[in-house]
Amino acid sequence: MVNIQQSPTATAQGPIKQYDAIIIGAGVGGLYALHHLRKMGFSVRVYEGAAGVGGTWWWNRYPGARVDGPGSPFYCYTFSEDLVREWDWADTQPDQPSVLAYLEYVADRLDLRRDIQLETWIRDARYDEEKQRWLVETSAGERICCQFLICAVGTLSAAYKPNIPGIDDFAGECYHTGRWPQETVSFVGKRVGVIGTGSSGVQAIPEIAREAAHLTVFQRTPQYTIPARNRPLDPELVRQVRENWPAIRAQLNASPAGMPIEITKRLASEDTAEQRQALYEELWQKGGFHLLFSSYADILTDKEANRSLAEFVRGKIRETVRDPKTAEKLLPDYYLGTKRQLLDNGYYETFNRDNVTLVDLREDPMQKITPTGVRTTTGEHQLDMLVLATGYDAVTGALVRLNPKGRGGVGLSEKWRTRFNTYLGIGISDFPNLLMIHGPGSPSVLFNMPLGAELESTWIGDCMSYLRERGLGAIEPTPDAEQNWDQEVAALANATLYPLTDSWYMGANIPGKPRQFCAHLGGPLYFQRISEVAAQGYEGFVFEQKRDGGVTTATGGPQETDSETAPGRSASI
Ligand SMILES: Cc1cc2nc3c(=O)[nH]c(=O)nc-3n(C[C@H](O)[C@H](O)[C@H](O)COP(=O)(O)OP(=O)(O)OC[C@H]3O[C@@H](n4cnc5c(N)ncnc54)[C@H](O)[C@@H]3O)c2cc1C
Repeated sequence: MVNIQQSPTATAQGPIKQYDAIIIGAGVGGLYALHHLRKMGFSVRVYEGAAGVGGTWWWNRYPGARVDGPGSPFYCYTFSEDLVREWDWADTQPDQPSVLAYLEYVADRLDLRRDIQLETWIRDARYDEEKQRWLVETSAGERICCQFLICAVGTLSAAYKPNIPGIDDFAGECYHTGRWPQETVSFVGKRVGVIGTGSSGVQAIPEIAREAAHLTVFQRTPQYTIPARNRPLDPELVRQVRENWPAIRAQLNASPAGMPIEITKRLASEDTAEQRQALYEELWQKGGFHLLFSSYADILTDKEANRSLAEFVRGKIRETVRDPKTAEKLLPDYYLGTKRQLLDNGYYETFNRDNVTLVDLREDPMQKITPTGVRTTTGEHQLDMLVLATGYDAVTGALVRLNPKGRGGVGLSEKWRTRFNTYLGIGISDFPNLLMIHGPGSPSVLFNMPLGAELESTWIGDCMSYLRERGLGAIEPTPDAEQNWDQEVAALANATLYPLTDSWYMGANIPGKPRQFCAHLGGPLYFQRISEVAAQGYEGFVFEQKRDGGVTTATGGPQETDSETAPGRSASI
């Protein structure tokens, strides 16, 4: 049976290692933060539960997993022209092995691995108010003390296994897409069931259908998906991008989602129905996010505009899926784009295959999972393999599971019981010196994430250096600043159609989770806001002078640690 729990832990013992900062997570965010902070002369160590670097791209090895956001060569680090020149992407939407290979290359190229400890979960982190430092324990039984706890734990890293009766009784192979095994999984000759039709399900289903003897798709919510139109990268585009990288980087920084996508100012009502149809058709053929972002400016804010595009996509589903009953089951009825917009490579077409069955759980609810399959009200679907494409406890899940204890020993899970407040999506009141990358209330999942990670890590580095230069012991947002930020994030979301839909953006996929929109929708305005906060002496934060009881690490070097982590050996990039 699939196990999404972290590995068992050893009892904490041995000397306590001292660092300026530890970073939790070696994904896109943690890798860049390590590089950046080390260059600034801080002593830093990364702890990662997985057996390799790459985060999302290490865990999500399911068939069909690939970048769908900005596509290449734009889903990458932007800070180094050398990296842009050195790495050759093959496709417009690189697959998981390619992104993982890229991140492994970056880790080697920047000599990051010497400061990364793999297969090590952070199992406890407590703030010591007297020492103004975090005391951290790992699953390997080590204890670490650091001034800054940098959480790069991922927005889509806490895999969610739904509480379906009998889920642990299934006797066949069972995998969660976000915890896919390292070994090759063969579907040949097997009866496979996929539960879930979100991003991972939509990517995996066409691939599994090609191999399996039979595929049964259990669908709770039909989804709008747009053809990704993945294709080999045009060498001419690559040449131009490499020649003009500074200008392109500036363009990405200025774009609302950090992507090279043309954003229109035109409203849907300014065109006739025929003109709209023609534009939608053109953008559908182009593929990718263009249909959502380059059609009309009010698709995500105006119900009528949204309906016109949604109806266009529903028409495409009816056109593509030959069996009208199946097509009807696949028709979504939420505001298009208000759930994570999916891109696919032949998803709707898959339902024309003889070896694929769609079970609509709205009309035929799931009762339980049995040792041999899935029972719905109409009978049992016999299966050899079950794939849980059931997603994540998104954005806050990994932080809540980490459950750091702030002032007074109060855990984050308690603090965030009814609402997850942050300031700037980076800091949390009562959790001094805890800084997040892609935290709730930052643009996170609605921005090109490698670029977002760079910009946030740079802010964090500047903030740490502000404290270092002034001999300050701690920084923490005020509850007022946090509350105002919460209102700002909510106001931006409430001006759109996002909150009208049950989505993981709203926490709706997790029973009992607070309903709250998770991301700041400002894009570049967000990054401007956080720069202004810094320029105004970290407005909204309070500082503490360094106390005598605090352990002072010589800046730039750890104490009580091995020579591997000695400072001053950062790479030349
Ligand atoms: C299938 C898929 C496709 C995606 N496609 C895109 C895309 O096209 N464009 C885009 O911008 N984004 C995309 N994303 C989002 C993607 O998650 C980000 O782009 C990016 O990889 C996030 O990097 P990260 O470092 O913030 O988090 P992650 O990559 O999730 O890394 C976090 C790491 O922290 C580790 N960790 C967590 N808790 C602990 C702990 N307690 N102790 C030790 N380690 C811990 C985890 O094991 C994980 O490896 C996609 C996500 C998925 C799942």
